[in-house]
Amino acid sequence: MTDRELSELAKRRGFFFGSNGVYGGTAGFYTFGPQGAALKRNLEDAWRDRFTLRQGNSEIEAPTVMPEAVFEASGHLDGFDDMLVECATCGESHRADHLIEDATDIEEAESLPVAEVEELIREHDLACPTCGAELAGEPVEEFNLMFETTIGPGSGQSGYLRPETAQGIFVEFPRLKEYARNQLPFGVTQIGPAYRNEISPRRGIIRVREFTQAELEKFVDPERDDPPIGEVADVELTLYPVDEQQAEDGDYVDVTVGDAIEDGTVESAWVGYYLGLAKRWFRRIGVDLDRLRFRQHLPGERAHYAADCWDAEAELAGNWIEIAGFSTRSDYDLRKHEEHSGEAFTVFRQYDEPKTVERATVDPDMSVLGPEFGGDAGEVATALESLAGRDPSAFDSEEVTVEVDGEEYTVDTDVANFEVETVTEAGEHVRPHVIEPSFGVGRIVYTVLEHAYREDAVDGESRTYLALEPELAPTDVAVFPLVSNDDRLTSLSAEVSAELRAEGLSVTTDDSGSIGRRYRRQDEIGTPFCVTVDRDGIEGDGKETVTLRERDTAAQVRLPVDALAAELSALSTGGRTFVDLENAYESVETDVSRT
Ligand code: ATP
Repeated sequence: MTDRELSELAKRRGFFFGSNGVYGGTAGFYTFGPQGAALKRNLEDAWRDRFTLRQGNSEIEAPTVMPEAVFEASGHLDGFDDMLVECATCGESHRADHLIEDATDIEEAESLPVAEVEELIREHDLACPTCGAELAGEPVEEFNLMFETTIGPGSGQSGYLRPETAQGIFVEFPRLKEYARNQLPFGVTQIGPAYRNEISPRRGIIRVREFTQAELEKFVDPERDDPPIGEVADVELTLYPVDEQQAEDGDYVDVTVGDAIEDGTVESAWVGYYLGLAKRWFRRIGVDLDRLRFRQHLPGERAHYAADCWDAEAELAGNWIEIAGFSTRSDYDLRKHEEHSGEAFTVFRQYDEPKTVERATVDPDMSVLGPEFGGDAGEVATALESLAGRDPSAFDSEEVTVEVDGEEYTVDTDVANFEVETVTEAGEHVRPHVIEPSFGVGRIVYTVLEHAYREDAVDGESRTYLALEPELAPTDVAVFPLVSNDDRLTSLSAEVSAELRAEGLSVTTDDSGSIGRRYRRQDEIGTPFCVTVDRDGIEGDGKETVTLRERDTAAQVRLPVDALAAELSALSTGGRTFVDLENAYESVETDVSRT
């Protein structure tokens, strides 16, 4: 299915469409329509069930606007850039690395230095995709993707729309660790919007400027905590490691999670664990596993915080698209926020037995440092304290030198009042490491739709349908009175709908057009079951009956109205299959659309 076919279906059936159309549209912003919003919500619930509830993690909801200090500390102000090249003729902006990927065999051009990208543009005579003018010689610039805003009136305080949900979790770590009773490991999740001022949004909801992320930040003790690998050790992964990507005849490696960790293909056991969980979850939500791979980031491609990183990629209309990222962020974010805020981003780890240790301390004589170093005296004192902890032998000679902001300060060792004390310690402060599975909800919605798209023929008529997993389908069941001008049929339809809604199912009704057309409409939005209320069901002398039709096979059974709600619930939770129903009830051979 091409991108265009999918976006036409998405628009026609209310999954998603470009926003603000009446004002000419705004590139990079999409509205999820009634079907899309329901599908997205179901997908988020399935993610929450897997990565929050079943993992014993807790979910928070942080603001989407955050002050500049957060992104100064996190490194986003300096490093969250993409390569921009502007066409001198038409003024259109393009992502330089994407132009190269589109025109050459190079797969991850964002890992290349700017000068090399400029050279490749020249070498391959790349032209502006909008107007066709030559781009050779145009400068390639690093463009920061964050949206800037002002917090409060007037000049206010500088703020940014968060480019990832993660920072809202990191900055609250000192409080969140209290809720976790200072016990590692613990995980905090968040599902919510993130904003990136993408240079050239494209492919519908795949690259947009506002999108939803579902992220888990797992805080672990780097020395003590191991993941419960046994849970996923035998899950098969299709991996695309760095060396295979770089080899001329490189190929995928099919391996279990357990073996991939054992032989070091996946370096971090935690990352391996989440790759296994994710693979199972992708199967649950209906991603085609033959079109899913896990690709390791090339060294130059890693985010500024990431130590090792793998992406889950889905094949969409012939291209591999990242739908989720799995990173080891080490203690980078917590350390940076600790340095910038002065708060402690550590957890106290109690020793099994108290330990007696020698601790080097200094108590600098400020009456000497003050006159000598003026405003820098405080920082010199702090630097002496940290040096004593790090390297006590530096205080062996008569003078000791420390560096503050690139300048060296020499102090008499006597003035530092260096001492080694023997102390008994109950534990130590540990800065957790962070493992982050990060999912792009919109891209997964897109994948699920594309991978669920089917074409076949029913009763000699071609149809298209979405074989969505019932857990994700926007509507659980559609109820149709066979004709709309029969009071008994319409009132029974209304009763059936009300009863199914009371059972917690999402129900739609439709009484317009032929039954065949109504089935096709539901098939196209992936409704797994349709109920038709017809005269045969009310005219017998027994119980009222209806027909129930399954989307994928178009098979139908006739069953009593009073059994319907329980059977549909069992079908949607997986407690029953449609074949069970075919064995239990009368099959309806003729498609009711022909009656
Ligand atoms: P890309 O390389 O495609 O720009 P990324 O590596 O910057 O993505 P991450 O920072 O790892 O993405 O974000 C986590 C997830 O968020 C991605 O796997 C993707 O699904 C989603 N995502 C990132 N950027 C966008 C975007 N502009 N539009 C839609 N989803 C996005």
